[in-house]
Amino acid sequence: MNIRRLLAVWSAKFIGFACRLTGKQGVTLAGQIALKLDPKILTELAGEVREKVFVVCGTNGKTTTNNLLCSAIEAEKKKVVCNHTGSNMLNGVVSAFVLSAGMNGHLDADYACIEIDEASTVRILPHFKPDYMVLTNLFRDQLDRYGEIDITMNLLKDAMHMAPDMTVIVNADDALSAYLAMESGNAYVTYGISEQVFEESIVNEIREGRFCKKCGEKLVYHFYHYSQLGDYECPSCGFKRPDPDFDASNIYAGGKLAFDVEGRHITANYRGFYNIYNILAAYTVARTAEMDLKHFNDVLYRFNPQNGRMEQFEIDGTHIMLNLAKNPAGFNQNISAVMEDETKKDVIILINDNDQDGIDISWLWDVDFDRFKDADVNSITVSGIRCQDMRLRLKYVDIPSALEPDVEKAIQERIKNGTGNLYVLVNYTALYSTRNILKKLEQG
Ligand SMILES: [Zn+2]
Repeated sequence: MNIRRLLAVWSAKFIGFACRLTGKQGVTLAGQIALKLDPKILTELAGEVREKVFVVCGTNGKTTTNNLLCSAIEAEKKKVVCNHTGSNMLNGVVSAFVLSAGMNGHLDADYACIEIDEASTVRILPHFKPDYMVLTNLFRDQLDRYGEIDITMNLLKDAMHMAPDMTVIVNADDALSAYLAMESGNAYVTYGISEQVFEESIVNEIREGRFCKKCGEKLVYHFYHYSQLGDYECPSCGFKRPDPDFDASNIYAGGKLAFDVEGRHITANYRGFYNIYNILAAYTVARTAEMDLKHFNDVLYRFNPQNGRMEQFEIDGTHIMLNLAKNPAGFNQNISAVMEDETKKDVIILINDNDQDGIDISWLWDVDFDRFKDADVNSITVSGIRCQDMRLRLKYVDIPSALEPDVEKAIQERIKNGTGNLYVLVNYTALYSTRNILKKLEQG
């Protein structure tokens, strides 16, 4: 046995354990130390995965898609390595493998499901070559105000070239992602929704990728699902939406989600039209890897998306839904999910401007907050470091809001005096702390 590897695995486990004791998230530190002690550790442990290695990339939906894929594979009685916590840069990925290894330094796993930050793919793929990469979508992120989506696309292209035998599983309804997969030279499999689900009038968001990546011409859309996702075609060069290999039909997105694919009826007990894409992505990649997925509906029934992605809490008779909203596309989909709920509700919006959130919060002006007017909203409370800006943004569309910079106080106040149905929408750096507050309150 390689002494370096043993030392790396034991050190990482010790750090992980020590951090849990002190209530810190030590995931990335554990990975960093392990990689220092044994630079080959990621390559070797990933090589010990007996069946397939999956990676999930894309601006929105990575964590939900990856965790769902992991649950679906576990339901087939297989052992899976997964970075559940969403630590999706190099050290976080190393950590997922190292902390799953046994004290003998070896991995006992049939599959790996790893979400990877798009920009980190070129740092991670030199260590191992995945069998499949899921690409969920490419939206402008909170930091990507100035053409950074092109930089992200170039990095992903390089990553695809690093693993020429990797099959790309791609959202056909996103012209940016589909273009990337089609041009990569890698084998690709597509999923999408070919039927029109929404009336044109309710999808009025600002959109990315309206121009053909191949020739620069403005794309023509037959319809939109949301943001730039829809049925598109280039009038100039012939680039168009590929016919999906896995096509979801009979879409229902109300209090719950349902659709048909491959003659199967899929149902899930939670909200958000965008989650149909996440479910479909996980389904497509697992089916492409020749899994039966006989238990897929049971998995969806039990699945509580973790880490503040539509995560549900029950506190003193109030039903609370926590959701991450970190960019315009994500936020608009959050508002749609709130609107799918026809009962009266309270909403708390928490906006921070720490480094990871992007210190420029002008993206708030690209979110269609005026739609809250039609959503049977009892109250909106704004919180976080930039609560004043958020309040101004709402005021601009004539929506009054209460101000409470301390989110714990805001939550407690709404539990005491609210409708019993509370949505908490937070951006990135607020997610972990808000989730801890909700967990603590839930335990009483
Ligand atoms: Zn074109």
